[in-house]
Amino acid sequence: MAKLSIRDLNVTGKRVLMRVDYNVPMEERDGVMEINDTTRIKETLPTLELLISKGARIILAAHLGRPDGKREASMSLAPVAVQLAKMLGRPVSFADETVGEKAEAAAAALKDGEILVLENVRFQSEEEANDPVFAARLARLADVYVNDAFGAAHRAHASTSGVARIVRAWGGQAAAGLLMERELKFLGDELENPARPFVVILGGAKVSDKIKVIDCLLDKADTILIGGAMAYTFKLAHGGKTGKSLVEKDHTGTALAAEAKAADRGVSFLLPTDTVIADLKDTGKVNKKGRPVFEFVNPRVNTGDIPDDCEGFDIGPDTVRRYSEVIATAKTILWNGPMGMFEDPRFAAGTHAVAKAAVEATQKHGAKSIIGGGDSVKAVNKAGLGDQVTFASTGGGASLEFLEGIPLPGVVALDDR
Ligand code: AMP
Repeated sequence: MAKLSIRDLNVTGKRVLMRVDYNVPMEERDGVMEINDTTRIKETLPTLELLISKGARIILAAHLGRPDGKREASMSLAPVAVQLAKMLGRPVSFADETVGEKAEAAAAALKDGEILVLENVRFQSEEEANDPVFAARLARLADVYVNDAFGAAHRAHASTSGVARIVRAWGGQAAAGLLMERELKFLGDELENPARPFVVILGGAKVSDKIKVIDCLLDKADTILIGGAMAYTFKLAHGGKTGKSLVEKDHTGTALAAEAKAADRGVSFLLPTDTVIADLKDTGKVNKKGRPVFEFVNPRVNTGDIPDDCEGFDIGPDTVRRYSEVIATAKTILWNGPMGMFEDPRFAAGTHAVAKAAVEATQKHGAKSIIGGGDSVKAVNKAGLGDQVTFASTGGGASLEFLEGIPLPGVVALDDR
């Protein structure tokens, strides 16, 4: 069901409480908290500019880190408000509380087009408990509620879900911001009736993490390409040897069941034919968990069984060639999960090649390439291709749950259009 959009609202002179995802990476430098990456702030600018142009009085609510219901100076949103002001080129005020008299007074003092950032919603334990009294105190700040924080929409918290219900119960509207709207369009509507062939690329660490997505997409996809460590569980399930590779021995049945379902539905289900392995060299050191730390040496392409003392870290060149050929024919591409341990450049070739193939299909014949969040978005950005795909989701856990077909509380709580 399509959700009400901020574009449908008349917000002139109204107090708009907007949930945003400002959970930015921060670091302390000389006693001051500094923001390492402002992407999440940048992504909210189009919605904010639209609200400003409509003369809304904007109140922003967000979480930062995991303060566990306590005030924690290093997780204050004050530096975020300063950064937002810089990026917008206009003043942004900050309330050093989330709800209460000071926050209410600051919200009431806003003039049309002005912006207020509230203190970290997770300084209050009631936030994650979705406490109705706390949600009502948030709702008191607003005439209208907007959710632009797709990355937090899988949480049923006060600022993502409870407040929307109360604003609506009190006669106000609850709508999706532009960023949220795009997420729902590309991860939802576009995949409902995708242009065919619809090719799904799934990678990452574990079959158990992705099985629900695989299951859901088996009903829609024409082809599924499997990569990442997840592929070794399939290899094991077929009686292959996987050496020291990351496998889930208790999920070989899950893997075979997915393949059987694919065969049943006529979905082409492809597994790697080669892999990049490395020897494990014991460094004699142990990590924080007391486990031995290994170096990965002598990376090389392997076909067939993986030797006992080796680990697989990437798809090999033959797999890259086969997968790229399939991706080149796609009209819709959905990708979730890297093809290997791409954080190490020696094992990033497979992931980069898939990113390149998706971009080429987009540029050459207008395929829609949708990157479903988390590490695959990081990988595409790392390859410098982030702006050349059709859409890269801002959600990690939220994208995965959405692709699994789970209703997200932060989306469900919004008005239908
Ligand atoms: P996920 O969050 O399930 O999408 O998994 C992403 C993580 O899986 C990334 O940190 C990758 O480094 C890791 N990964 C992917 N392939 C492998 C592999 N073959 N061996 C070890 N880790 C891998």
